[in-house]
Amino acid sequence: MSEATAIPVPSSPTRRRVPAGAPLLVGRLVFAPGRRCSPPTLTLHVWCPYCRRAHCHGWPDAEARLTDVGHRAAHCDDASPWRRGGYWIGLDPAALGPNRKAREEYRRAERADDSPASEPIPVPMEDKYVG
Ligand SMILES: [Zn+2]
Repeated sequence: MSEATAIPVPSSPTRRRVPAGAPLLVGRLVFAPGRRCSPPTLTLHVWCPYCRRAHCHGWPDAEARLTDVGHRAAHCDDASPWRRGGYWIGLDPAALGPNRKAREEYRRAERADDSPASEPIPVPMEDKYVG
């Protein structure tokens, strides 16, 4: 199947990191608020034309400049040609607004998560004089 290489690679400075002819799947960021024991997460849902379903990949916020791309191991079925070499993923430029919103929600949740637990633990005075 040759349509794999026909997926358009939107041009931007960071997208030039994608090697010529390599697959780039673009998609939307999805924010999931943390629960009691799990932190909030940001995942990128990209549509796969081979498997005809979305693949979900973690998208660390440090990577989440809206034009950035990252290489991932494919979450594809065995029939996909990307199974071995993986593919590149990035944010869909057509979904700029929703992607920005998801990222903002994630950052807000992370800050809220930090506030009570990140208080420094006071060191008792006595400890300084031991030894
Ligand atoms: Zn796939």
